[in-house]
Amino acid sequence: MSASSALRLPSIDGLLRHPACVPLAERFGRDSLLACLRQLLDELRASVLNGQLSAIEISPEVLAGRVGERLAQQQRSHVRRVFNLTGTVLHTNLGRALLPDEAIEAVQMAARYPLNLEFDLASGKRGDRDDLIEGLIRELTGAEAVTVVNNNAAAVLLTLNSLGARKEGIISRGELIEIGGAFRIPDIMARAGVRLHEVGTTNRTHARDYEAAIGPRSGLIMRVHASNYSIEGFTARVPTAELAELAHHHGLPLLEDLGSGSLLDLTRWGLPAEPTVRQALLDGADIVTFSGDKLLGGPQAGLIVGRKELIAKIKKNPLKRALRVDKLTLAALEAVLGLYRDPDRLAERLPSLRLLTRLQADILDQAQRLQPLLAQTLGEPWSVSAIPALGMIGSGSQPVARLPSAALCLRPQVSKRMRGRYLLNLEAALRGLPIPVLGRIDDDALWLDLRQLDDEPAWLVQLAQLQVAR
Ligand SMILES: *Cc1c(COP(=O)(O)O)cnc(C)c1O
Repeated sequence: MSASSALRLPSIDGLLRHPACVPLAERFGRDSLLACLRQLLDELRASVLNGQLSAIEISPEVLAGRVGERLAQQQRSHVRRVFNLTGTVLHTNLGRALLPDEAIEAVQMAARYPLNLEFDLASGKRGDRDDLIEGLIRELTGAEAVTVVNNNAAAVLLTLNSLGARKEGIISRGELIEIGGAFRIPDIMARAGVRLHEVGTTNRTHARDYEAAIGPRSGLIMRVHASNYSIEGFTARVPTAELAELAHHHGLPLLEDLGSGSLLDLTRWGLPAEPTVRQALLDGADIVTFSGDKLLGGPQAGLIVGRKELIAKIKKNPLKRALRVDKLTLAALEAVLGLYRDPDRLAERLPSLRLLTRLQADILDQAQRLQPLLAQTLGEPWSVSAIPALGMIGSGSQPVARLPSAALCLRPQVSKRMRGRYLLNLEAALRGLPIPVLGRIDDDALWLDLRQLDDEPAWLVQLAQLQVAR
């Protein structure tokens, strides 16, 4: 008797009519069920043929169970909520800023109904989508004009291409940075058609370096916020005001890519100082670009603000059409910017700012409260302690500044040789939870920084399901 004939499988037709399968057809659709059944039966036949599975009889109930699990798995969304307990608040890989309720409501409205995206309700004529947020951004930054694109990388690309194509862009060697995801200033310049003219050195660039570079082919001077690294020690950099004066003396525009670009002075909330958009403009930058989803705490977007005639030129560039934002982004952005009009309440209302300003003592309390529960869930050989930890703002804001925070520190009490495996298994188990929990491994321990553990009930409910492989 051959292996395949020894495997007695029910017929597809019989299965489809079987009471265990009928509800599956209703839930997932007959076509999906059929495809999945065929696939599973093929796999079973193949594993008997190649000897992985001994010939057996498989009941329709067992098959239905397996098919049901598989279909449920396939139906699960690939975009999934996670718990960000990495200690990095604005985590680029985890979606950066979280939107406030006001923005979520605005997005829902924009998703559900037609809206005046490019329609001027006052005149009844065609409008410009930038007009929807221009007034607010001008008020909050002091800029003359505004345009919004897909992200700050797009903002930089579009600005460079609009103002400097076929000309030279002068920039300090200390600012030729790479942001994650292959955004490199020299490459973006090249793609924008701007010839890079680098001046100065990595650590020191003087006004005379810029001055010596200015010539008939110059198109603009660019300044870039170092974002994710810092140059310390023997350094020199030309203040924006001085650089602007030099640029204007030679009839050149000064672009400043602020990266995070804060709208308000963050030191009022005890956070490290970041240059504000308003200050950069006051200092004389002609165009300032910054992200919507970093410190601003809004949706992914790139904001370009500055002098009216330059913004007009940027908006005329055909690339603008390719890089523009959609209605959902604009709706969210307007709602977030609206909150900035009341700075006194901003830290309560804007989730990213609320999380960034949570006090260490608060977070430590929370960690101490959760410590016994986690210790009990994990059991041997784990030691769980609630201790102070240092987090980060993230997204290239203040790379060296640390946010005093607190964490649950999970340490396997096993031989040094085994620790790595235990940690990786625990990390995988946490990732495997219905709402994956993401921490970080450091110093032979897994750290769960609780600064961002807002939804404690949801976190606790699923802890019971944690199953760590040994
Ligand atoms: C983050 C950053 C960018 C890229 O911004 P995205 O919004 O991620 O596209 C560009 N320049 C600087 C200086 C940055 O910090």
